[in-house]
Amino acid sequence: MNYKIALIKGDGIGPEVVNEAVGVMEAVGKKFGHTFEFVDVLLGGCATDAVGKSYPDGTAEKCKACDAVLLGAVGGPKWGSDKPAEQRPETALLAIRKDLGLYANLRPAALRPAMADACPLKKETAEKGIDLMMVRELTGGIYFGKRDKYQTEDRGLEATDLMAYSEKEIERIGRRAFELARLRRKKVSSVDKANVLETSRLWRSVMHRLADEYSDVQYEDVLVDNCAMQLVRDPGQFDVVVTENMFGDILSDEASMVTGSIGLLPSASIGDTAPGLYEPIHGSAPDIAGQDKANPIATILSVAMMFRYSFQRAEEANAIEAAVDAVLAEGWRTPDIAEPGVTPIGTKEMGRLIREHI
Ligand code: NAD
Repeated sequence: MNYKIALIKGDGIGPEVVNEAVGVMEAVGKKFGHTFEFVDVLLGGCATDAVGKSYPDGTAEKCKACDAVLLGAVGGPKWGSDKPAEQRPETALLAIRKDLGLYANLRPAALRPAMADACPLKKETAEKGIDLMMVRELTGGIYFGKRDKYQTEDRGLEATDLMAYSEKEIERIGRRAFELARLRRKKVSSVDKANVLETSRLWRSVMHRLADEYSDVQYEDVLVDNCAMQLVRDPGQFDVVVTENMFGDILSDEASMVTGSIGLLPSASIGDTAPGLYEPIHGSAPDIAGQDKANPIATILSVAMMFRYSFQRAEEANAIEAAVDAVLAEGWRTPDIAEPGVTPIGTKEMGRLIREHI
């Protein structure tokens, strides 16, 4: 197959980690007989510097003409909150996700076997293994609801944020979760606050309907406060966890921390028709940019997700994940994950070793 990939290298360590991921893609292409056409897309602080805005005209169209989008990271102190919105990198990130209709955010939190010591939880908890997929609704709920701030007569200023969800929005994210569970260990945990919120009660009723339809998948309701506790008590119990936007924002960060390092975790944002967007969960790490110190593994594992979810190529995805695990098992570490006494290697060397294993 020939795949056309949009590359948004972005700012800080973005170009360094994307370059290694591209090298891995090419190695996979050689092994499995695929070719790639790469299209560089300017977005973020670097776009502000080049053309005066972080989200240049035509960006979404360029991406839509590709099969998938790989993003490094954007942002940095140079383009801070004192700048107008159209020059800020965050504006571009929200815009591209919205324009591509990416309503499902997939964040796996898996403890890689060789990194079990990096897990901050009790040894016996880590030993049970952690391999869950957080599925977060990305374009609805309180982050996109009507907001207001107004003066009251006797209580000073008051502010409101509206959380709204339609059956249609809940059903499409729910279906994603059940379909994903079928590719994994066939369990869905749906997180809500149905004992308090009306939106959660609607959420739960739609999920129950889907659970009947996907009767081969085990299903459970989990209240969000209980989920927060269970993620540190026994994360091994979860397979696919599906939840609304704000709960997902918080829980996915919690889930990623139990696996140890920010430099190892990939993510995918997908919609129904447009190309999926794949990116590491970390930011542009300006403190280490340009020093060959960044860990490229999160971006490389994002490419594995691209093969699995955009191209339905599980074998290629497995090959990338196996190569990463093999390099880690041999003891190779970038500075962010190096145990005391271990001499770390650089970004490029880590990329080279993973390519070699493929
Ligand atoms: P960050 O993730 O960039 O960095 C946090 C810490 O983790 C830093 O010490 C950094 O050196 C380290 N780190 C991150 N990725 C690493 C990697 N691959 N290898 C080794 N170490 C790594 O978060 P931050 O410092 O809060 O944000 C920096 C900039 O990134 C900000 O401008 C922020 O807005 C932006 N950001 C962008 C995205 C994105 O592009 N999706 C996400 C988060 C933050």
